[in-house]
Amino acid sequence: MSLPSPSFPRPPQDDGGAGSGQDQTPEGGRVLVAAPRGYCAGVDRAVDVVEKALELYGPPIYVRKEIVHNKYVVETLSERGAIFVQEVDEVPEGARVVFSAHGVSPQVVAAAQERHLATIDATCPLVTKVHREAVRFAREDYDIILVGHQGHEEVEGTFGEAPDHIQVVGSPDEVDSVTVRDPSRVVWISQTTLSVDETRQTVDRLRERFPELTDPPSDDICYATQNRQVAVKSIAPDVDVMIVVGSANSSNSVRLLEVALDAGAGSAHRVDRASELREEWFEGAQTVGVTSGASVPEVLVRDVIAWLKERGLTHVEQVRTETETTTFALPRNLRMELKKSGLIDARPHAPRQSGANHTH
Ligand code: SF4
Repeated sequence: MSLPSPSFPRPPQDDGGAGSGQDQTPEGGRVLVAAPRGYCAGVDRAVDVVEKALELYGPPIYVRKEIVHNKYVVETLSERGAIFVQEVDEVPEGARVVFSAHGVSPQVVAAAQERHLATIDATCPLVTKVHREAVRFAREDYDIILVGHQGHEEVEGTFGEAPDHIQVVGSPDEVDSVTVRDPSRVVWISQTTLSVDETRQTVDRLRERFPELTDPPSDDICYATQNRQVAVKSIAPDVDVMIVVGSANSSNSVRLLEVALDAGAGSAHRVDRASELREEWFEGAQTVGVTSGASVPEVLVRDVIAWLKERGLTHVEQVRTETETTTFALPRNLRMELKKSGLIDARPHAPRQSGANHTH
């Protein structure tokens, strides 16, 4: 059984598929394409997990929640035989289920065990790192402030590691309602896909209330989220309109929109795909910025750039602020089975394209 060639091409490291420096029409409007953008290492791995599982076991492969928050990815994997469910009780007893990149709580793992499901955990290792921090600080009996968005799957998963110790705080304003047992034993941790600047404000407010607040051992907002925000900030002051490609439920994509506006973009719009672009957004625009969230395949960005070129914005330039080289190995149980079947070689997981977008 083999799958069609990957449907989520990553851009080359040099120009991200943007055609940097190739279209120099002086009189045309300008498109500035932020880099890094698009796939991060965790998304690349999670999508690969589902593709490889389909190849190895054949459809259907059940996936709890959207594997990553992107409509196109979910639709494409559904066409190949992935079945997306909300909860494990929708998966037939004994079947195989993949946990999404956003992670799951221990309660979900237990529910899967009860149903004798074979599980493959595609949780991003950087989310797992935050889970471990929650477990450790709860064991040390800290009150844990989880900065993040209530209701987001990642936050639900992390919260579930230590519900008796964790309070979720979504914004600086929510800090006032936090109550703790001992102000000298309070630690903050965070969702991986937040706005760096807003999180700093929330933590500053927390520290005003709890001067002995303990920091997490390292940044919880992941490298990919941070890099995409830095990249979008670098072009935002120069653009009349910023287009963020990404789905409405993608936290890091929505943050890119906010960051672009805060950094000076004239206006900003989020679209899932080029067909959602509206002519009137670009009236009078000389410079348009383009970026994409960490769960967005490059093909969707290329479509947006093509749409803009057709409307006279012919000079396309990529602006790179960072080069990314992070990759994550496939989950161990899947890797072993793939190896046994001769479906992978010695390398545990190789991004389909190296560099910034591998491009997760
Ligand atoms: S955005 Fe960050 S935490 Fe989320 S999957 Fe990508 S690398 Fe992992």
